[in-house]
Order: sequence, then structure tokens, then C-alpha cells
Amino acid sequence: MIRPILKFGDQPLHQPAADVREMTADMQRLIDDMVETMYAAPGIGLAAPQIGAALRIFVIDLSLGHKADDLMVFVNPTFVEREGMQLEEEGCLSVPGFNATVARPQRAVVKGLDRDGQERVVEGTDLLARAFQHEMDHLDGLLFLDRVRGIKRDLIVKKIRKLTRTGKW
Ligand SMILES: [Zn+2]
Repeated sequence: MIRPILKFGDQPLHQPAADVREMTADMQRLIDDMVETMYAAPGIGLAAPQIGAALRIFVIDLSLGHKADDLMVFVNPTFVEREGMQLEEEGCLSVPGFNATVARPQRAVVKGLDRDGQERVVEGTDLLARAFQHEMDHLDGLLFLDRVRGIKRDLIVKKIRKLTRTGKW
């Protein structure tokens, strides 16, 4: 089922999510909904808090669903390694219409459970490392805007507040 994606200002996006304790049928359904919602958006990644579930799960597919093997599901992910730094423009399904340059690791290794509860370790560089850090941030209640400082951030937040006031957010 495609679920509504929460936007900047919706509280679940700004709070840390909890570990998944058991891979129940409800969790499988949540993961299915996340994948479906990500593809429909379309986006290359989605974290559970973005659809209002305060749980440490994210899904990533850099191919936007074009390559079956590219779909990754991470439950209770943690970083094993992070190194280097890249600066690129970044956006988020929860902050539609806005982009900003964000510093991210050049390479990141994530360890977590897949949807069957099996442990997996995946190394990402460039865009995948960026996506890992972006989605992990969602699980900690952070949006990319929280990693942007100064005038750029103030400007975006001001525009979002205005959109919110006029019922367009
Ligand atoms: Zn995002």
C-alpha cells in the first residue's frame, strides 16, 4: 500500500526511531509499504519515520526499481565504517521542492538485518554512501536540512513556514 509521506514539520520526522525487536508479519507489511511508497514517489530511499513508523528500518534502490537486485532493506542498521567526505546537492521526499549541498562520507559500510532477519553488511561509495547517511539520519530524527547551516537553511525553513501558513505544505 502506498502511504502518505510526512513532511518537514511533522513530528515523527524529528524524533529518533526505536529498534525493531521482532520480524513479525506487521514488519513485513511495513517494509512492503515502504518499498511501494518509495517507488511511487519516486525516490531512491525511504525511512520508516517518513511514513509515520518510529522504527529503525530504511529501504534504498538507486535504480528506482529498474534492477531487481538493487533493492536493499536494512533493519536496525549501524555504521561499521565511514570515511572521506563528498559535497553534493541533496533532496528528500519529506522536503519536496528544496535542495541543498550537504557534506556526507565518501564511503560508508552499513551492517543490519535484511527483511528475512539475516545479517548483511554492504559497502557504499559516492551516491550509495550518501543515501546510507541520509536514511540513517532519518532514523535519528534528522533531515538533510539539519545538516545545512546558515542563510541557506534559514531561507528554506522560512519558505516552508510560509507554505505551511498558506496551506500549501
Ligand atoms: Zn529523506
